[in-house]
Amino acid sequence: MAALTEFELIARFFRRPCRSAVLGVGDDAALLQPAAGCEIAVSVDMLVAGRHFFADVDPESLGHKTLAVNLSDMAAMGATPRWALLAGALPQARPEWLAAFAQGFFALADAHGVELVGGDTTRGPLTLCVTIIGEVPHGRALKRSGAKPGDAIWVSGPLGDAALALAHHSRDIELSSAELASCERALQRPNARVALGERLRGVASAAIDLSDGLTGDLAHVMEESRVGARLRLAAIPRSAAMEPRLRGSYREAALQCLLAGGDDYELCFTVPPERSAEVEALGRELGLEMACIGTVSEGSTLTIDDETGHRLERVPRAFDHFAE
Ligand code: ADP
Ligand code: MG
Repeated sequence: MAALTEFELIARFFRRPCRSAVLGVGDDAALLQPAAGCEIAVSVDMLVAGRHFFADVDPESLGHKTLAVNLSDMAAMGATPRWALLAGALPQARPEWLAAFAQGFFALADAHGVELVGGDTTRGPLTLCVTIIGEVPHGRALKRSGAKPGDAIWVSGPLGDAALALAHHSRDIELSSAELASCERALQRPNARVALGERLRGVASAAIDLSDGLTGDLAHVMEESRVGARLRLAAIPRSAAMEPRLRGSYREAALQCLLAGGDDYELCFTVPPERSAEVEALGRELGLEMACIGTVSEGSTLTIDDETGHRLERVPRAFDHFAE
């Protein structure tokens, strides 16, 4: 098959009929009309081969995850995602790879009513960068800065499975093949909690999505809100793969995954304590394994009580791309 040109590639895999945009792919810029009474929420996330994913990962899953991590940022703001731009550097233009990538990307985009309105395509080391644009009613976005002492801290689902999959590959933890399959799924096909984020407008005092690990991401909320936090280890939701490894010789590695592993893409949010019943009802309605994992405190420290009520001596730290 003859090699694809840049414009053939865009036309074949990424240009689709324009729906909600005024003008989509094909001109020098897209034209968008936000709904009346809404603010624009915009965010960008980059995925680099060898850093955020294995270069040989299944392209359909990669297409899904490339968009999912951006939808998750919209969810964390309580915004409704509407449009996306996709910038990609590709080592080569392989039609089978592109078709599978586009399938994963557009299946998730369609499920959320998100329209791809532009991008940029170049040859280079495999890197994918999505800009996502959403809408949120004026003044109602969920920010990191609103948590108050006494608020309950919630997470939207089990944590640490994506990190468990990576720990298995680096031989820090050994999983059965069934456990590995479910942890791989968490790693490669995260669910962005968009519906939850929308419903938390006016309910949550602060929110963040867990991309770099619970302790580090919660620390961002603490810093922006000028508060501390106290967590109960036993309350943190975990999978059947995680649970047994928190006991015995794998405990340290499992704690690292649960508390500081990245790529969970659950929401962590704070809610005034009198609204707990509302949050529980929301969890049941949306079918999420939500859990209250602790309380916002005065001060600036993060403490974690272990299963016996003693303070964990070492709080696992979240991933930092530039930490030595
Ligand atoms: P320009 O020369 O103005 O940068 P390009 O030739 O790079 O434009 O792109 C042509 C059109 O295709 C533009 O509308 C651009 O937004 C769109 N486009 C380029 N790459 C992608 C992509 N990977 N996904 C979606 N749209 C893309
Ligand atoms: Mg361009």
